[in-house]
Amino acid sequence: MSLQEQQQLQARSLAAVWHPCTQMARAAVVPPLPIARGEGPWLFDVEGRRYFDANSSWWVNLFGHADAGINAAIKQQLDTLPHVMLAGCTHEPAVQLAERLSLLTGGALGHTFFASDGASAVEIALKMSFHAWRNRGLNDKREFVCLRHGYHGETIGALAVTDVAVFRDAYDPLLMRAHVVESPDSRLGPQQEALALADLRRVLEARRGFVAALIIEPLVQCAAGMAMHEPSYLKGVRALCDEFEVHLIADEIAVGCGRSGSFFAFEQGECGWPDFVTLSKGISGGTLPLSLVLTTEAVFQSFWSDEVARGFLHSHSYTGNALACAAANAVLARFEREQVLAKNREQSALLAQAFAPLQHDPRVEHLRQRGMILAFDLKPEFAGERFAERFHLAARAHELLIRPIGRTVYLMPPYLIDADTAAFLFKAVLASLNDVAGAPHAA
Ligand SMILES: *Cc1c(COP(=O)(O)O)cnc(C)c1O
Repeated sequence: MSLQEQQQLQARSLAAVWHPCTQMARAAVVPPLPIARGEGPWLFDVEGRRYFDANSSWWVNLFGHADAGINAAIKQQLDTLPHVMLAGCTHEPAVQLAERLSLLTGGALGHTFFASDGASAVEIALKMSFHAWRNRGLNDKREFVCLRHGYHGETIGALAVTDVAVFRDAYDPLLMRAHVVESPDSRLGPQQEALALADLRRVLEARRGFVAALIIEPLVQCAAGMAMHEPSYLKGVRALCDEFEVHLIADEIAVGCGRSGSFFAFEQGECGWPDFVTLSKGISGGTLPLSLVLTTEAVFQSFWSDEVARGFLHSHSYTGNALACAAANAVLARFEREQVLAKNREQSALLAQAFAPLQHDPRVEHLRQRGMILAFDLKPEFAGERFAERFHLAARAHELLIRPIGRTVYLMPPYLIDADTAAFLFKAVLASLNDVAGAPHAA
């Protein structure tokens, strides 16, 4: 494709496609990369230039682009049964997927409700929690608690338990009121976890009998800027939720599927299971929209009745889409077959090694890592205006596709890291940093 054709494609896109999470008035400054194809961790633009997909295309891609195994599963399903409604019908891919997920939780979360994207899974968990209490006669339990800077999606219900100002502020007048409690973000110091748990206890005590559920992102609050905390926090919240009879919703849409080091991040708390787990993003390996809510026998049983209205009458048109389920089964089969978690441990060690020099970079603070997520913050005095946009643009020239959040630079790559790619990533990040933040010791 000629340069002129490429610019035409960009112009047509800006005219007809309303891009997500984008101020369209700025989009001309940062024109969308016209991507022609993907292979492994690489994306190729229409001129054949390559970019390493360091953010796994918004955290969805686990095993690279156009993975042959996942593609084969989808193609086979496509020729057999692309989709059928899941009310009144069932199909092997959905059943298999629910059974696999149940097994992964040792049967603790043995019931799976299907949806299509992350935000709808969050909506479902909130509704299910409220309705489960109501079915038990506890009609007052209809309040939700969420964490400072937590992110759970951008539909009206999910946004109500999201505390990220850029996404939320404009819509605040529309939103249900939730209680926002302190985040356990380790960057705030060693006392922060205890403070966060004390704040949660304060709210649960004050609203005793009124809270339906607490929703958290276990181990990493991703959209907050990869704010990380220790597994001991999970133990603390599980105990508080038990004490105050509040459901615990673990939103594992970003941190699930091996991203944090275990299949479910919550497992690292070694304190049993949440009452609900939401999954999406990585579950279909970055191929098709799919989300799931897993829950317990106790929640399931509270809907079991002769009365239709006591059931969970929620649905989406593409609920349990067979193609997406086939992709997810291929992903989970890979976990069963290929020791993905053990390999990820090696890969995260390679990333840690490659990025260790940043510990001594005077421009950088809070270098941190949890499994296959590595992040650092640029000190404010080095970041300057529009840092994320400038860094993103600079990185394109170093064959790197990356989108910082504020002044947090993070890598959430596909699970395809070897010594060479780790070294490449470090070089490209450092070069981009030097382009936009001056060489080290510059200030
Ligand atoms: C991305 C995300 C969501 C929303 O998922 P969508 O598919 O974008 O609606 C919800 N919760 C968390 C933790 C996420 O990272």
